[in-house]
Amino acid sequence: MDTTAEKTPVRLAIVGLGKIARDQHLPAIAAVPGFTVAAVASRNAALDGVPHFPTIEEMLEGAPDVDAVALCTPPQVRRAQAAAALAAGKHVLLEKPPGATVGELAPLAAAAAAGGRTLFATWHSRFAAAVEPARAFLAERAIRSVTITWKEDVRVWHPGQGWIWEPGGLGVFDPGINALSILTRILPRPVFLTAADLSFPANRQAPIAADLDFTDEAGTSIRAEFDFRQTGPQSWDIRVETDGGMLTLSHGGAKLDHDGRTLVDGTDAEYTGIYRHFAGLIARGASDVDVLPLSLVADAFLLGRRRTVEPFED
Ligand code: NAP
Repeated sequence: MDTTAEKTPVRLAIVGLGKIARDQHLPAIAAVPGFTVAAVASRNAALDGVPHFPTIEEMLEGAPDVDAVALCTPPQVRRAQAAAALAAGKHVLLEKPPGATVGELAPLAAAAAAGGRTLFATWHSRFAAAVEPARAFLAERAIRSVTITWKEDVRVWHPGQGWIWEPGGLGVFDPGINALSILTRILPRPVFLTAADLSFPANRQAPIAADLDFTDEAGTSIRAEFDFRQTGPQSWDIRVETDGGMLTLSHGGAKLDHDGRTLVDGTDAEYTGIYRHFAGLIARGASDVDVLPLSLVADAFLLGRRRTVEPFED
């Protein structure tokens, strides 16, 4: 193993200093050894004491000693930024979803491989505390059905984020894809979509709600309800009925219950997990790019019936 990365911190640039960069990336980077924030590229935001550039292009030019970039921008602009960073010889961490299309990921992965750089398409929910224990539990059980309920208030969690309603912004699939990233990690067999019902506000380009049916080669019933209009209690739950009882992941994958008994009640460690994994990938000269959750969302847009619902105003 190359120990250089352990001795010399990876000089990381944050690109897109918005909500997730401030809420999660900066605290996780501070908590995980092996990284230092060396630059920020953001049009409207800066960090005290850290070199600032309005765009990634200016940052790549003006801060050539940066080793890696964390792209915390909206998905529609991420491919071009990733391509520029890889061309400049940087390791690249992509926020989820990894892009605005499925097809744009293969050329990025090829560029990373050709340049000997790391490309990491993160799925933060896969680092939630209950996900790996749930995967281990389900590997040894027959699965009868899966029910996903992912309902949150878009006004609370995405205030003023206009990009989420634009083409490529995913609408309710922006949180919903987190559930799909967990689903595709914990189930022992590949799943595929059989039907989808998508609700589009009359004034928006992305769905505000989605009902999805999936199955697998064994014919398992897998249903998902995503809704951005949830007020009151919020739900980020996956219930799996098995021959060994009911497994419930709740709180976005942080908590695990089996027939009412709590097996895991984890603290939030998603982004520290992401940065530990990124450090390991860089040290090993490896990449990690799984497009499967994004493919399932693309399939929903391919196969989904569309209904128009009342306009949404922020
Ligand atoms: P955000 O608050 O809107 O921040 C994104 C930042 O990217 C903006 O502040 C903006 O900073 C920059 N940006 C560059 N080009 C932009 C463009 N064309 N349109 C809008 N902003 C642009 O969004 P976020 O919530 O941090 O989400 C960013 C990504 O992280 C999304 O893919 C999202 O799915 C993911 N994520 C978000 C959360 C969450 O809870 N918010 C959780 C997990 C993952 P400047 O104006 O300074 O350039």
